[in-house]
Amino acid sequence: MRCDEVAAVLPGLVDDDATDLEVRRHVEQCLRCQAEVARYRKLVRTLELLRARYVEPTPGLLGETLAAITEAAERGALRTYVTTRRLAYGGAAVGTALAAGAAAALIIARSRRRAVA
Ligand SMILES: [Zn+2]
Repeated sequence: MRCDEVAAVLPGLVDDDATDLEVRRHVEQCLRCQAEVARYRKLVRTLELLRARYVEPTPGLLGETLAAITEAAERGALRTYVTTRRLAYGGAAVGTALAAGAAAALIIARSRRRAVA
């Protein structure tokens, strides 16, 4: 067997599950795969330690977290406000331009009617 053929089942060796005999023989003779299994074992041990470990929060952690959340929310609200204002100004400018255009068209049309009559 080759290393790439056994790579997918190497994590199973950590728990000594019923792994294929050929895989076990390969690992017994292959330093590379033995090192990989050792890394998996170390990873599992580290994860087990993390599961049992309780991290005491620092005294100001809650306040800092709430301040960060508030700041992020304010930035988001400000961004929304600015975007909304820009859209409102843009819409108002377009509306004004359209109204001016319509008024100009009406004035031109009336002046032509008078010139014809
Ligand atoms: Zn190997």
